[in-house]
Amino acid sequence: MSTSVESPLAPSIAPDVWADPRRPSLDQALDAVFRVIGQREPDRLTHPQVVAIARTFFHYTWVCRFFTMQVEDAAERVNGVCADDYPLPVGLAIVKDFCNRWNGCPEEACRRNS
Ligand SMILES: [Zn+2]
Repeated sequence: MSTSVESPLAPSIAPDVWADPRRPSLDQALDAVFRVIGQREPDRLTHPQVVAIARTFFHYTWVCRFFTMQVEDAAERVNGVCADDYPLPVGLAIVKDFCNRWNGCPEEACRRNS
């Protein structure tokens, strides 16, 4: 499947998270959606699904409170508010915004598990 950043799945959300060239690309994010929830292009993603999809890009087997707080911050930046679920393009943009900023957990206990 080829999905460019001009696709309807990548609307011009401010800030334009897809302008960041680091992974994940939109295609990689969609692949992760399929791996996590088994659907190619669901209409919506729940917030826990957004967390689970973001997690796959860092190969964590579990996530700590700091990780989930950062996803909530990303949701507020992209969507204005952290919600129960989001339209797919918004959910994907939250994953991308989080990945653009995540630099690992600062807590020593978590570094040993990541
Ligand atoms: Zn942590």
